[in-house]
Amino acid sequence: MLKINNLHVKLEDEDKQILKGLTLEVPAGEVHAIMGPNGSGKSTLSYVLSGRDGYEVTDGSATLDGESLLDMEPEERAAAGLFLAFQYPVEIPGVGNMTFLRTAVNAQRKARGETELTAGEFLKVVRAKAAELQISPDMLKRPVNVGFSGGEKKRNEILQMAMLEPRMCIMDETDSGLDVDAMRLVSDGVNALRSEGRSFLVITHYQRLLNHIQPDVVHIMSNGRIIKSGGPELALEVEENGYGDLLAEAG
Ligand code: ADP
Ligand code: MG
Ligand code: MG
Repeated sequence: MLKINNLHVKLEDEDKQILKGLTLEVPAGEVHAIMGPNGSGKSTLSYVLSGRDGYEVTDGSATLDGESLLDMEPEERAAAGLFLAFQYPVEIPGVGNMTFLRTAVNAQRKARGETELTAGEFLKVVRAKAAELQISPDMLKRPVNVGFSGGEKKRNEILQMAMLEPRMCIMDETDSGLDVDAMRLVSDGVNALRSEGRSFLVITHYQRLLNHIQPDVVHIMSNGRIIKSGGPELALEVEENGYGDLLAEAG
C-alpha cells in the first residue's frame, strides 16, 4: 500500500534537512503508529505526503500502490485514495459542510473517471454515514468547522473520511491537544473504518490513543528517520520510560 523509501526532505528556503532517510511500509489493512519526540519531523512527513509547499524532496521515494505520490498534485493524491486528516480542519465561513463534502466527493469521483453524485444521491449517502457516526443533521448544514468544538471537528474529520472512502489514511494528531473525549472519537472512528483494504498511519504523542486503536505496528521516529519498529508494546515502553533508552540504543 504505502511505501516510503530513504526519504530525504529539506526546507525549500533554508538549508535545513528534516527527513534524513526515512523508510516505512504500511501494508493493506494495517494500522501503523508513529511516535517520537517533538521536532523529529513527524508533521513534516505528513505535510510532504500531502503535497504541501515549502519542502523539497532531495532523495528517496513515496509510493501508494506503486504510484509515486511525490509527483502528484494534492487532488490527484486524494483520487489515488490518500486522505490526510489535517487537510480539512480549516474553517470555511459561508460554505455549508454538506456542500463542501459533496464538492470533495465529486472532485474525487471525477478524477477517477466516475460519474458525479446528484444532490439527492449524495444526501442519501451522507445522511446514512452521519447517522452511523452519530453526527447531528444540524452539523451538516453549518459552515465547515466554523464554531465547531474540538470534538465536533474530530467527528467531522471522521465523516469526511467515511465519505471519501480512502485506502490510505494519514492522521497527524500531534499538535491537536486531544482531550479524552476527542481521543475516543478518533479511535472509535478509526476502528469503525478499519477494513482489509484500508490502512492507517496515525501520528501521535499519546500512548493512550493507541490503547483504543490497537496498532499493528508502532514506529519510533527521531531526527528524521525511523529508529525502531515493533508491536503495540513499543508504545507502552515509551509511556513508561520515555524516549531516552530508545534514542541511546539507536545511537
Ligand atoms: P514533529 O511533528 O515531529 O514535532 P516537525 O515536522 O514539526 O516535527 O518539525 C521537525 C523540525 O523541522 C523541527 O526542528 C522544526 O522546527 C523544523 N521545521 C519544520 N517545518 C519548518 C518550517 N516551515 N520552517 C522552519 N523550521 C521548520
Ligand atoms: Mg511538533
Ligand atoms: Mg508534529
